[in-house]
Amino acid sequence: MIPFLDLKAVTELHADEIQQAALNVIQSGWYLRGQATAAFEQHYAEYIGCRHCIGVANGLDALTLIYRAYIEMGVMQPGDEVIVPANTYIASILAITESGLSPVLIEPDTDTLEMDDCLIEQAITSRTRSILIVHLYGRCAYTERIGELCRKNNLKLVEDNAQAHGCRYKNQRTGSLGDAAGHSFYPGKNLGALGDGGAVTTNDDALADCIRALANYGSSRKYVHRYKGRNSRLDEIQAAILDVKLRHLDLDNRHRQQIARYYYDHISHPLISLPRRLDDKQNVYHIFPVRCTERDRLQQYLTEQGIQTLIHYPIPPHRQECYKAWNSMVLPVTEQIARQELSLPISPVLTLQEAQAVVRVLNDF
Ligand SMILES: *Cc1c(COP(=O)(O)O)cnc(C)c1O
Repeated sequence: MIPFLDLKAVTELHADEIQQAALNVIQSGWYLRGQATAAFEQHYAEYIGCRHCIGVANGLDALTLIYRAYIEMGVMQPGDEVIVPANTYIASILAITESGLSPVLIEPDTDTLEMDDCLIEQAITSRTRSILIVHLYGRCAYTERIGELCRKNNLKLVEDNAQAHGCRYKNQRTGSLGDAAGHSFYPGKNLGALGDGGAVTTNDDALADCIRALANYGSSRKYVHRYKGRNSRLDEIQAAILDVKLRHLDLDNRHRQQIARYYYDHISHPLISLPRRLDDKQNVYHIFPVRCTERDRLQQYLTEQGIQTLIHYPIPPHRQECYKAWNSMVLPVTEQIARQELSLPISPVLTLQEAQAVVRVLNDF
């Protein structure tokens, strides 16, 4: 069987270093808000190219805290609009609605699977305060046009970098392209913890201070609470493990890119289409999405041939029960992607032989 993602093998790649890092924390007697978290925050900020990195409990919290902070700072008011892709994981949308902000869903371009720039411009109103771009599947979603729209209309550019650690736009990392970015270290992500974790990166000193306080019960001085904050912490064991894995991230991503190159060069089935190819810097292939009009039959066939695949995502946010008011919205491109998308195995531990087997079976469909 070729698994979609063999997490056990991913951990085994760097097992000795990971175990030593975890053991050091266990033996230190200090488990929260200590040196390991501070060290990882510094290293990750340097890696992304931002002045600040704030470790938090998970990726959803990272994004939620960014918008909550903008509200606390008076930059946004509940009811303000945030432009966001319709084709994304639900967390991107939850982060917006959590603070009473209003998501404006934008259809993707069929070729790139990213927000259609022309539709973004049309969606800007006097209530628009922010554009949340999502580097979905590990593909860079930033464009000059989006940057320009943000500058011209005074919108905060926020990045959902949960799927794109290490990805670049020109020579800058995603996560440093806008005003703030949310990162997830969910185990299956390119930079994954052995549990939950997340971070915010930003160059905005005031935003960083506000988020640090919000994540710490609304307090920046012990027993003094400025905001009705919450508890959202990256713990010391996860931070120590992430610090180890960060050192190997670029190599792990290079391996993903080699697998992806093989897929791009060899998948040739007439019913299977691939998203427009980006250069290697701009895609760290968290997911390798293909599309097929007979997706379910294709998935069944691959399963029978011993190849595990997943769907990202079968039900788009506007069709979820939690967003009932949007259920009748018609977003044909997003809905088509939900019907046709299939994610092939890709990871730092998938071998080229396995990728060859995937292609052979796929082209025989
Ligand atoms: C994983 C993910 C998140 C949420 O991260 P968690 O750490 O699971 O909370 C947010 N956005 C996207 C696009 C994701 O893939």
